[in-house]
Amino acid sequence: MTIRYVLDGLTKYLREAKIASARLEAEMLLAHALGVDRLDLYLHPEHALTEEQYQRVRALARQRVQGEPLQYLLGSVPFYNVELKLSPAVLIPRPETEELVDRIVKDFRAPPSRVLDLGTGSGAIAIALAKTWPQSRIVAIDVSEEALALARQNALANGVQIEFVRSDWYSALTDSFDLIVSNPPYVRSSALDHAQREVQREPRRALDGGPDGLEAITRIIRDSVHFLTPYGRLYVEIDTDQGERVRQLLLATEVFSRADILQDSSGRVRFARAMRSA
Ligand code: GLN
Repeated sequence: MTIRYVLDGLTKYLREAKIASARLEAEMLLAHALGVDRLDLYLHPEHALTEEQYQRVRALARQRVQGEPLQYLLGSVPFYNVELKLSPAVLIPRPETEELVDRIVKDFRAPPSRVLDLGTGSGAIAIALAKTWPQSRIVAIDVSEEALALARQNALANGVQIEFVRSDWYSALTDSFDLIVSNPPYVRSSALDHAQREVQREPRRALDGGPDGLEAITRIIRDSVHFLTPYGRLYVEIDTDQGERVRQLLLATEVFSRADILQDSSGRVRFARAMRSA
């Protein structure tokens, strides 16, 4: 069986299973199973697969059709300026979160000396910032040991130094930081029950923000006042309908001199940004 033949069959199989970008996913799965780049599939369309390669592709395709997210099957994902290993123990980093990192990098003229990433998961935000700001001291916490183990591997693979700490939000911390950033769980519990099946394969703890989606965000904002240096800044990813309530939470602390709700590139509310006064 040639690459061309398998690629066409795989595309058809994914399309019939209602997978939206069937051709692209077929290319990615086949290239992954063969250990080549996507472009190679088109450079060598008549190349024949070994039986083992063919079985590998079939197994991947079957899992994909059963709802396993593509990124878990590929085992890694590009994020901002780095490549991250993934497992079902961590949330799949989203493009919105790359935008959050980009926003932060553009906002800071000089790298902050001390940075905290709350709920680091795969390590995405912390590692992207560490790569951008090699001189900054970066601490990343997560409550999940499995996530921390993966994040440590990712930091090592990307050649950055990060201090990983197991912590329930701020509970294990004593220092203060010039920048605190988080992509916390913020989806309403009830919405998660109806989320697409790929999302249901992600760790619920990384997504579930409680009945109103604001449980984690509330703690992160309320306690940030004890962990931010004067003029320290807080950035939190939020849901599209949470802007006004998050602004209220920020103002209620009475320590922020500025509180902005920002949109992502598709024009939806997506981030909160605040600066502590002196
Ligand atoms: N943006 C993600 C989603 O809608 C949620 C991420 C999160 O809760 N931090 O699936």
